[in-house]
Amino acid sequence: MKENETKDVVIIGAGITGLTLAFYLQKAGKKVTIIDQSDHVGGVIQTKQENGFIYETGPNTGVLSNPELVELFEDNSEAELETANSDSKNRWILKNNHFHAIPSGLIGGITTPLFSLKDKFRILGEPWRKPGTNPHETLAQLVKRRMGKSFLDYAVDPFISGIYAGDPNKLIPKYALPKLYNLEQTYGSFIRGAIQKKKEPKTDRDRKATKEVFSAFNGLQHLTDTVAKNIGSENIQLGAHNTTIEPHESGFKTSWSTETETFVVTSKKVVTTVPAPSIEKLLPFIDKNITQPITDLTYAKVVQVVLGFKNWDGRELNAFGGLIPKLEQRKVLGILFPSSIFKNRAPESGALLSVFMGGMRHPDIIEQSDEQLLTLAKNTVTETLKARNEPELAHVFRYKHAIPQYTETTPERINAIESIEQQYPGLILAGNIRDGIGMADRVKQAVDLSKKLTS
Ligand SMILES: Cc1cc2nc3c(=O)[nH]c(=O)nc-3n(C[C@H](O)[C@H](O)[C@H](O)COP(=O)(O)OP(=O)(O)OC[C@H]3O[C@@H](n4cnc5c(N)ncnc54)[C@H](O)[C@@H]3O)c2cc1C
Repeated sequence: MKENETKDVVIIGAGITGLTLAFYLQKAGKKVTIIDQSDHVGGVIQTKQENGFIYETGPNTGVLSNPELVELFEDNSEAELETANSDSKNRWILKNNHFHAIPSGLIGGITTPLFSLKDKFRILGEPWRKPGTNPHETLAQLVKRRMGKSFLDYAVDPFISGIYAGDPNKLIPKYALPKLYNLEQTYGSFIRGAIQKKKEPKTDRDRKATKEVFSAFNGLQHLTDTVAKNIGSENIQLGAHNTTIEPHESGFKTSWSTETETFVVTSKKVVTTVPAPSIEKLLPFIDKNITQPITDLTYAKVVQVVLGFKNWDGRELNAFGGLIPKLEQRKVLGILFPSSIFKNRAPESGALLSVFMGGMRHPDIIEQSDEQLLTLAKNTVTETLKARNEPELAHVFRYKHAIPQYTETTPERINAIESIEQQYPGLILAGNIRDGIGMADRVKQAVDLSKKLTS
């Protein structure tokens, strides 16, 4: 058994949450170790290069929704922040086998075939509709009440599939979309709230959160690799198996093994950033009944099929991507156009597409063979984007625990996390089991935590 030196903080998980936390703790003078079971840093963020294509196997894009994310790039300047091309702003929605752009102006709003005439008029009354009183109302109920069913079916449902791979009948806005929920609760209406928010004075720091779509130049992994490099490989233990945490003297003892050795490190504080299914084995000293509300967290399963065309021969891809509402009864949730959004993702006249499937709508699709999934992805691209040739690049990636679903079980889970943290001071349960699902949420959680642990 190899007894490592004592650290200030041990972090389990080298995804963007763990890396960001370690980076800022180290910057504040703390000694940290990150432990991860996989053989790479970045967690689900992975970028590959092949035959003139640069593609992501996990997340493709994020939103600059808080200054912390921009500052992470500024503090790791070898990774260059890339924002989306302006001509990829349009979002398409499939209706009757044809992609239509989501309207942005008044004329588009009146003429779009996506929403019913009744709901187009109904939306004009949204600012005067009474706010809801049930904090556990589902997203579907909230949208139907304020905007009408066709907005639920042809705007919110496909967007929720695109972001959450989720079901609007299950997600609770208070937990899953707190900003939207607060617009109604604070300002009485989405429209009035959005207008008021725009008018609110902003500091220079607030203005960094431009809400633009982002990646890192040449792929998101450049960000996580750079952060990891700045932390130092000597502070990151990869390929760590059977990691367990135990209370020890006035702190914790974390043990793990590699192919050849067993390691132990002691620390005053331990932070887990792993997904819910890993929690139970990490914390063997806590009764299963106590961790159960955490381990019960449901994750949407997601399949991503990446298709690369050296010469794109199909509909012009001058958009961010196309989303597919449930009512269209297809297995595919949406198609993202990374080569339209970012530079260098495909050869000059080519196209790179990411086809997403599964989610809470079709969880079983993950069990299908690669061949079946590729056929489904290619057929959908042919039918909806009029592709006339075969892709030269085709890969399938599966995630059994892709996106956590913040449903009505959220309060019990948060209570369980908080009571464990109170009972064992210095043990912190972070990661996507709370505080948001997107990369920006993960970075913000890590930055807030680093401040708390160094104050
Ligand atoms: C397919 C997909 C698409 C996505 N699309 C988007 C998007 O478009 N925009 C967006 O903002 N976000 C998106 N996300 C979400 C975003 O990628 C995640 O929120 C974020 O990357 C999670 O980072 P994390 O560090 O919290 O967790 P992870 O990246 O999951 O990292 C957790 C780490 O913990 C390690 N680990 C787990 N168990 C153990 C254990 N027992 N011992 C040791 N190590 C362990 C894992 O190996 C992993 O490295 C997507 C996610 C997926 C999967």
